[in-house]
Amino acid sequence: MSENRGVGVHLDAARDQLLAERVAVAAKVVAAGRFALARMAELGHRCEDLIVDDWELVAAELGAELGISRGRACTLITQGRDLLTRLPAFAEVFGGGAVDLRVLRVILHRCALLTDPDIMTIVDAQLAADAPSWNALSDERVGELIDWMIVEVDAVAVRRARETRRRRHLSVAPVGDGMVEIYGVVDAAKGAVFDQGVEALARTVCPHDPRTHAQRRADAVDALALRATRIACLCGQQDCPAAGNEAPSGQFVIHVLAEQGTVAAAQGRPGQSGNTGAPAKTPRPALLPGYGPITIDQLADLLPAARIRPVPEAADLGAELGYQPSRKLADFVGCRDLTCRWPGCTMALARCDIDHTTPWPYGPTHPSNTKLYCRIQHLIKTFHCGPGGWNDHQHPDGTLTLTAPNGRTYTTKPDGALFFPQFTVATAELGAIDIPPPIPGRERAAPKRSRTRTQNRAYRIAHERALNRAAIAADPPPF
Ligand SMILES: [Zn+2]
Ligand SMILES: [Zn+2]
Repeated sequence: MSENRGVGVHLDAARDQLLAERVAVAAKVVAAGRFALARMAELGHRCEDLIVDDWELVAAELGAELGISRGRACTLITQGRDLLTRLPAFAEVFGGGAVDLRVLRVILHRCALLTDPDIMTIVDAQLAADAPSWNALSDERVGELIDWMIVEVDAVAVRRARETRRRRHLSVAPVGDGMVEIYGVVDAAKGAVFDQGVEALARTVCPHDPRTHAQRRADAVDALALRATRIACLCGQQDCPAAGNEAPSGQFVIHVLAEQGTVAAAQGRPGQSGNTGAPAKTPRPALLPGYGPITIDQLADLLPAARIRPVPEAADLGAELGYQPSRKLADFVGCRDLTCRWPGCTMALARCDIDHTTPWPYGPTHPSNTKLYCRIQHLIKTFHCGPGGWNDHQHPDGTLTLTAPNGRTYTTKPDGALFFPQFTVATAELGAIDIPPPIPGRERAAPKRSRTRTQNRAYRIAHERALNRAAIAADPPPF
C-alpha cells in the first residue's frame, strides 16, 4: 500500500526528531553527570561540611552555563550521576536514544532504595534489556514493572512496601483561592474502589454538562462522602436526560491477578483459616492491574470477600460458537493483554472491549483472534478497516501487527506476559481466512456524537464567558 509522499514525509520527520530528541537529551544528562563527577573530584570534597558544598558549586556552574535554575541543575546532576555510577549498562542504551527521559525518571525514582551493588548490577542489566520496550507505556505501568523486578531480587524492597503501608493517611489541606488539596497514601485495593466510585459519579451527568471529566470527578467528592448516587448536571436544561441517572453503589468489582503459589501463601497468613504451610520459594506479589503490585499481606486482607477464579490455560481454550466470548475466554484475554493493544494506548482492562481481530463470523471467537481494544480504537478498527484503512493481524502468542491507512505497520505485545511469563504461551494457529470487503461508506454507520468537537469547544467558551459576564455585572470594576 503506497502512501501520499507529501504527508508521509511529515510522519517520518516527527519520528526521526523524536529519536534525535532522545539522543540529545541523553547526551545532555550524561554530560551533566560527567561534568559533576569530574568537577567534584577536582574540588576535592573540601567544602563538604559547608552550606555551599561541592554540589552547590557544581550546580552553580552548570546552571549558569545552561541558563537554568538551581533546582533544574540539581536534577540534571542527580540524573547524570546516578546513571553513570549506578546504572552503567542502562546508561549505554539510554545514550543511544532508545529510552525516553520520562522512563529514566521513573527508573531512578523506583531504584533509589537499592543499595547492594550486586543487586544493582542485576537490575541494571535487566533495565538495559527491557526498558527500550517501555517508551509507549504509562509512567504507572513502568513503575509497576520496575517494582516487579525489584521485589524479585531484593527482599528489602518488599519491606519498603510495608513501610509505605504503615505511613498510610488521607489529608485535606487548604491551597488558597477557596480550594483544598486532598492527598494521601491508601491501600491499593481501597484506592481502586475509591477511584471507581468517583468515576461512576462523574458519569451520571448528561453530555451537555459543561465541565471536563476531570472537573466532574473533583465535583463528585462530596457526593461520594454523602453516599449520594449522582451529582447534579450543570447543563441548565429543564428536561435534562440525566435527571434519573444513578451511579451503582456498593457493587464495585476489582480484579487482582495472582499465581496459585501467591494465593496459597496469602491463605496461609494469619487471619486466614486454611494453612497450607510455608511455600518453598518466595511467591511473586499479586497484581492489581492499573494500580500496581500488591503484597501477599494485602492479598490476604482481600481474600475473605474475594471470589477466586482460576485463569484458564491457553490449551483449554478453543473456538467458541457465539460472538460474545465466554467468561473463561474473556478472563484469559484480559489477563494476557491487561491494556488496550493499540500501539501507545495504555487504557486499562476495565475500560476495554474484546475485539475480534478478523471480524466475526469470518474469524472465530478464539484466543488467537480476540484481544483488548479501548472503545475509540475499537470503533476505528471496526468502521475504518479494509483497503485503505486500519488492518490488524494477530499472532498466536498474542503479538499484534497493526497496519495504518498509510501502509506503515506497528507491533505490540501483550502486557500480561511482562508480569506473568506463562502468558507468552502461544494459542492455536489459525489459518488464513477470506473475508468479504467492507460495505462502502460504512464508516458513516459508526455511533454519532451528540455535538461536534467544534460545537463543544464553542459551548464551553460561551459558558465560561457567560459566568464572567454575570460576575462582572454583579460586581462592576471601578472605572
Ligand atoms: Zn444535563
Ligand atoms: Zn486504546
